[in-house]
Amino acid sequence: MSGVIIVGGGQGGYQAAASLRTEGYEGPITIFSEEPHIPYQRPPLSKAFVLGKQEGDRLLLRLEAYYTERNIELLLGERVQSIDRASSTVQLASGASRTYDWLVLATGATNRKLPVKGAELDGVCYLRTLDEAKALKARLEAAQNVVVIGGGFIGLEIAATSRILGKQVTVLESLPRLMARVVAPVLSDYFLQSHSEKGVDVRLAAGCTEILGKTKATGVALPDGGVLPADLVVVGIGVVPNVDLAREAGLTISNGIAADEFLKTSDEKIFAIGDCVEYPNPFAGGRVRLESVQNAVDQAVAVARTIMGRPAPYSAVPWFWSDQFDIRLQMAGLSTGFDRTVLRGTMESHKFSVFYFAGPKLVGVDSVNRPADHLGARKLLGAQKTLTPEQAAAKNDRHEIYEVLGSMGLGFKQRTAKARTRAAAD
Ligand code: FAD
Repeated sequence: MSGVIIVGGGQGGYQAAASLRTEGYEGPITIFSEEPHIPYQRPPLSKAFVLGKQEGDRLLLRLEAYYTERNIELLLGERVQSIDRASSTVQLASGASRTYDWLVLATGATNRKLPVKGAELDGVCYLRTLDEAKALKARLEAAQNVVVIGGGFIGLEIAATSRILGKQVTVLESLPRLMARVVAPVLSDYFLQSHSEKGVDVRLAAGCTEILGKTKATGVALPDGGVLPADLVVVGIGVVPNVDLAREAGLTISNGIAADEFLKTSDEKIFAIGDCVEYPNPFAGGRVRLESVQNAVDQAVAVARTIMGRPAPYSAVPWFWSDQFDIRLQMAGLSTGFDRTVLRGTMESHKFSVFYFAGPKLVGVDSVNRPADHLGARKLLGAQKTLTPEQAAAKNDRHEIYEVLGSMGLGFKQRTAKARTRAAAD
């Protein structure tokens, strides 16, 4: 028995190995990770890690002993160079090769590079890996003027973190609103206001034409001829999925490694999970590639079950979170295609949810500092139930959602508000 080979020791790769063992797989499991670190969490990198609140072992998904105790072979600093599908073998950069019964590709994604002159200067940073986070943290300590290019989740989280550390921060977003591809205008406006109130200079429909400096970044040139002083430039303009390995092996590629509803690629023995895979998602009403912890984790669980002979089409409710200053944004479902939004709660209270409807159907809920709404939304969407827009907007918002869920047989167990908050944060 050759066992399961997992390419990538990130969120999805770790979870695939862990879930195979909990699902009862007894054969060999090997994780090849090109990074030199024991699998760690990426979400804190833009938040608690840079603030010095979560470092070392507290970043790890599991301590090293976890892998040893479960007989999971974790090979760090080992890049898989190619796949020979005919012989079910992977070749490593180190020259060795290994055969597999099943191959799980969890190769993640790489940051999109800033396509302007000067982008290679010292002081222009990206954030994906722990090593990049360490470099960014060190530079941030010394920096005065930080320019963040990109007003998406990562850019805004770094902007918030830099501001908390007392830096002068400017965000340049090329679109007319923040997080435009994923949230409703009302939320873009709320985050613009929140960042502005905390002293972040957010510039919309704004670009940069060049990073200035000789060897080190000193400024950012703007299209109108202006210059922003900058001793640190952080680029957060999206990612591209890591598909080269799969492409060179002849697997079908679309906006990611193409897979079916079981996360199986165009090769029967090869699965793809996490940020690198495009697959049919019932909540998207089509094929989609998602970048979230939930997506990587739940897909890994699904693949482990398929390998164990218990296949089921992957259909978990997508969810996501982002922390910026004291705002926790939690998203459930996929709001693309919505034609109406309903606000529950008030923005002034900094506790509200936006319910997205496509016709009469609830397709997504974005909650700001309202974890109970988020949990309720995940339950509703998972059970393929909907609220009416009137129920969503109910004034008696504290309890109404539970009554509605209860009437649908989806009630929460009696838990304290504190326990619900803790569960939503997990
Ligand atoms: P990754 O975790 O990226 O792991 C892929 C691994 O595969 C990498 O280590 C890579 O080096 C390795 N690899 C690639 N090719 C090879 C090869 N050929 N051989 C060996 N190894 C290889 N999501 C949320 O839901 N909430 C958040 O708040 C949030 N915050 C984030 C903050 C930051 C700064 C970042 C970077 C991401 C954040 N995310 C967040 C996204 C989330 O971390 C990712 O969606 C998740 O890590 C995807 O898991 P993955 O296993 O697909 O990829």
